[in-house]
Amino acid sequence: MENRENYDLSEFDRAHIWHPYTSMTNPLPVYPVAAAEGVHLILEDGRRLIDGMSSWWAAIHGYNHPVLNEAVRTQLEKMAHVMFGGLTHAPAVELARLLVDLTPEPLQHVFFSDSGSVSVEVAIKMALQYWQARGRTDKNRLLTVRSGYHGDTFGAMAVCDPVTGMHGIFEGILAKHYFADAPMCGVDDPWDETDIQSLKTVLEQHHGEIAAIIMEPVVQGAGGMRFYSPHYLRRVWELSREFDVRLILDEIATGFGRTGSMFACEKAGISPDIMCVGKALTGGYMTLAATLTTREISDGISSAGSGVFMHGPTFMANPLACAVAIASLKLLLSSPWKKRVNRIEAQLEAALMPLKTLPWVSDVRILGAIGVVELDHAVDMAHMQRQFVEKGVWIRPFGKLVYTMPPYIIDTSHLARITGAMAEVIRLEDPEKRSVT
Ligand SMILES: *Cc1c(COP(=O)(O)O)cnc(C)c1O
Repeated sequence: MENRENYDLSEFDRAHIWHPYTSMTNPLPVYPVAAAEGVHLILEDGRRLIDGMSSWWAAIHGYNHPVLNEAVRTQLEKMAHVMFGGLTHAPAVELARLLVDLTPEPLQHVFFSDSGSVSVEVAIKMALQYWQARGRTDKNRLLTVRSGYHGDTFGAMAVCDPVTGMHGIFEGILAKHYFADAPMCGVDDPWDETDIQSLKTVLEQHHGEIAAIIMEPVVQGAGGMRFYSPHYLRRVWELSREFDVRLILDEIATGFGRTGSMFACEKAGISPDIMCVGKALTGGYMTLAATLTTREISDGISSAGSGVFMHGPTFMANPLACAVAIASLKLLLSSPWKKRVNRIEAQLEAALMPLKTLPWVSDVRILGAIGVVELDHAVDMAHMQRQFVEKGVWIRPFGKLVYTMPPYIIDTSHLARITGAMAEVIRLEDPEKRSVT
């Protein structure tokens, strides 16, 4: 750290601030960022890092975008926030209209919330209230697949993978739901009906208790960065109709083009009863999420008991967040996003697939603007992250996974820097070299 101010910043951070999933007594290193622009993060010490993470799927247009900046500025001059109880405003209405237009046709009703996790809580509540309203209070469990991730709040945690999630820590407090085996059939593999058997068996035995199936469509994100066959999703949808359970799709990571389709569920040609979106919704500017549902679900909820849906965050439909979300969606729709994602996909394939031949690499998978290298061992995250920073790129590995989901605007040479750094760093994971250091 060059100057006193930066020194204080890092020192105070280390002493007082939690970062995601960290210890306060043994904190991992964090890098102070002074600014961000385009595909670059600019550190306090002046180093520029090429962003390979889109700040966790969110910053799809890159940072400090003039159009998005202008949207925030313009809205700020009108109002930063007003309560959403008894009031409405143009940013919320226009954003809802865009979302209803953009998502599959049956999704007509929009509930805005502050974060992805909360949008999942809302989705679960919608499914439960729907069945309650229909007099089926016995349908109060969820069904999901292993290796999923849906957020860090209690309702969401209860449907995260029971092993890699937090079930161990909160045993006895988390709601008990049904887990089927994770899909095994890859995106381009020939469909194998036995893949769906586990989920089908749970439905056959327990459909009377199951309100909804919840899963991430085609891409399982933080639960393991796994991709599965759209045919599996298609079968899940068919079974959900057959066994009269609702289907919740969590498009928080996949939504808005990341997989090469606007929504991943389009790859299966299906539409859920309830869909969650977040992350890229505001282009990474502000925290905002939405839960969309069908007329059937919302009419159901409204038809019995108090007739109201029981949720209402203080900062619901925050106008600044809605305004930047509108600008981000318009920017996306007016850009050649599909071409860009396809180009990123082709480049990731060419650059990362060869790593598959390394004995300590167990798998390489690419889908859309997502590239994943899975190693046969958990990496030393702090050490590997420092190597990436020294090479001028921002990649944050976790567990056995070294992966990238860059902003859609990244050009060929910047992406080559990212994949080049990934290849170099992964080659250094050679067990012989590791044992020496
Ligand atoms: C990130 C994520 C969430 C949680 O969103 P937050 O905004 O972090 O609460 C839920 N589901 C999926 C699939 C995600 O990737």
